[in-house]
Formats: sequence, structure tokens, C-alpha cells
Amino acid sequence: MNFEFWHLIVLPALFAAGWLCRGFDAKQRAGGAELPQTYSRGVSLLLSGESDKAIDAFVEAVKLDPQQIELHHVLGNLFRARGDFERAIRLHRHIYNRAELNDAERTAALRELAEDYIQAGLFDRAEAAFRRLSEVPSEHLAALHRLLEIYVTEHEWQAAVDTAERLEAKAGENHSAEIAHFHCEKAEIAMKRKDFEAADAEITLAVMQRATPRAPILAGRSAALQGNLEGAVRWWREVAQDYPEHSSLIIGELADAVYKLGDAAGAENLLRDTIARSDSVDAFEAALSRIAAWDGAEAATTAARQMLQRQPSLSAFSALMELKLKAAPDDADLKLLSGLLKRHARRLARYQCRHCGFLASNFAWHCLGCGAWDSFPPRRLEESKRGS
Ligand SMILES: [Zn+2]
Repeated sequence: MNFEFWHLIVLPALFAAGWLCRGFDAKQRAGGAELPQTYSRGVSLLLSGESDKAIDAFVEAVKLDPQQIELHHVLGNLFRARGDFERAIRLHRHIYNRAELNDAERTAALRELAEDYIQAGLFDRAEAAFRRLSEVPSEHLAALHRLLEIYVTEHEWQAAVDTAERLEAKAGENHSAEIAHFHCEKAEIAMKRKDFEAADAEITLAVMQRATPRAPILAGRSAALQGNLEGAVRWWREVAQDYPEHSSLIIGELADAVYKLGDAAGAENLLRDTIARSDSVDAFEAALSRIAAWDGAEAATTAARQMLQRQPSLSAFSALMELKLKAAPDDADLKLLSGLLKRHARRLARYQCRHCGFLASNFAWHCLGCGAWDSFPPRRLEESKRGS
């Protein structure tokens, strides 16, 4: 926003300076001496923060000298900055269609028009405009970056893959993590419609990038859904080894798979080892719910106490109180305490984007706040604060 604001002030100021340097001959213009005065009034109104009155002054200036392309641009950008996209688009389209423009001027008009479309949420038109811009050598890379943003916003994952690969080839940029995520998105869509052949093809392409734990995690899930539990265990053990921080995301599923393969002792060891060593709330909760289901509430209570002694946390204490409440459902005080702890624990148990601070109640690979990938550490806020 700040950038846009200064851009708006600097652009008319530069235009005014250029005007004076060129020795603008007001007398030969249709507006006579009125035009520079109207224009100066617009700039000073803009500088004093009165953008509505500034717009009126610039509209007047445009009427006095309709040939001034820069003036139209200033006005169009002002409309866009205050969210009046319809007028911004109308103005920039009018400039773009003017017959006397040279190539550079027409490209500048198209760039502004594309910007209007994207900010107005007219993504189809923005895509068409940036595609045209990408054919101009000087605009090629900037247009590809904007196209990539559009494809991600619109969930057009294959177009996103193609564009990111073009950026890698043409600009030498590294987009491996994003490309892996785009393939994972395609794989998840295929998995939802139970097209495992298509899902596995995408997962293979994602794993090849070796850039995000999401790919092997997904490979394990696809294998498990197809009944290949040995394969799932192999993938998830790889995750635990290569990305230990992310093992909290799959520890429950891994224990389930080991248990279903007939190794109940192995599954329990895995969970008890998690409780003894991991300080992740997610891993703790996944382990505790399974111990409660497999060994009963008594064993789970002992495990929760063990976790609390080693690593005191509101979430672990809340889990312990819930287990106690299950054993004594008529205890009114316990019910109150358990409810209170649960509310507070839930408030703290959120994930936070390390780039922009966006909070999410579920773990996500893509931040809705800033658009970054892999920006959520797989740790709840409570744990992060404890560690800092
Ligand atoms: Zn973010």
C-alpha cells in the first residue's frame, strides 16, 4: 500500500518536472495557461492526502489536453489505488486503443491494464493481458511471475508447473519447492476421485524435486489408501529420517499402519518413544489417543503424566484432564476445569506462518496470508513460544 501511495505521488511529480524541462508551451495548447495550473493543483492536493479532489483536478486537466498520455496514466492509477477499478480499466483501455501510440507506450498501457484486471479479481482478462505482455522481450520475466501468481490463485496447477519451469529455464530461478507442491496439489485432487494412477504419477514428479516433506508424506498416504501398508511405512519412515521436524504430522498414521501389519508391540513402542522424546503437541495427541484406544485410559493417563513431567504444557495438561473426566464423568468441578483448559489450549494451539505471522488452526503447506509455500513450521504456537 505504501509503495502504491508513493508511486502515485512520484509519478505526477516526475511528469510535472519533465513538463517544465521540456519548456511546455502552454499558449499553443488548447487549454492555454490553465492546464499547468490545474495539474499543479492536482499534485498539491495529492500531496496533502486529498485524493478525491486531486482526481477532480486531473479529470479537468485531461479535458484540457486529451493528448497527454501520462495524465491519463496518473488518473488511471489513482482510480485503481482507491478501488475504482471500472474507471481505471476504462481509462487504461482507452489509452491502449489509441492509434498514435508507439510500441513502448502501448506496452506500458497494457501493463497498467493487466494490473487493473488482477486487482479487480478479473483473472481471465489479467491472464490474457499478461500472456500478451510475456511476448514482449522486456516484459517477459515480469509477466511470467504475474502469470504464476494468477495460476496459483486460480488453482490451475498444470499451468503453474509449466510457468515455474519456464522461469527456471529462462531466469535461472529455483522453483523446485513450488513445482513439488503444484504436483502434490494435482495428486490430492486425483486421490479424492480415487484415480491413484494419476495421483502416483504426480507424486513421483513431486518426490523427484526433493524439496518438500509433503511429497513423501503424500506418497505414503497414497500407498496406504491403495492397501500397500508396507509401502506406506517405508515412505513415512523416510519422512521421519529426512524431515524429523515433520514426523509429528505422520506419526499417528505410521503407528496405525505398523499396528495393522500385525506388529502391535512395534506400534506401541513407536508411540511411547514419541511421548518420551518428542516435544510436539501434535505427536503427543496422536500418540495419546492411540494408547487410550489400544491399552485403555489407565495407560494413557500414565503416558500423559510422563509427558507433563518432562515437558509441561497446557495441551498435555488439558489432555490429562480429559482422560480423568472420562473416568469420572459426574465430577462437576473436573468438568469445569477440563472445559476451561480445553478452550485455552485450543486458543494457543495454532500454527503460525514464519513469513507473515498468519495464524491457522490446521497445518497448511500454503499460507493464505502471504502466498508462501512451506512457511508453517509443523509446531503449534504453544510449542514455538516455549522454545523461544
Ligand atoms: Zn504467510
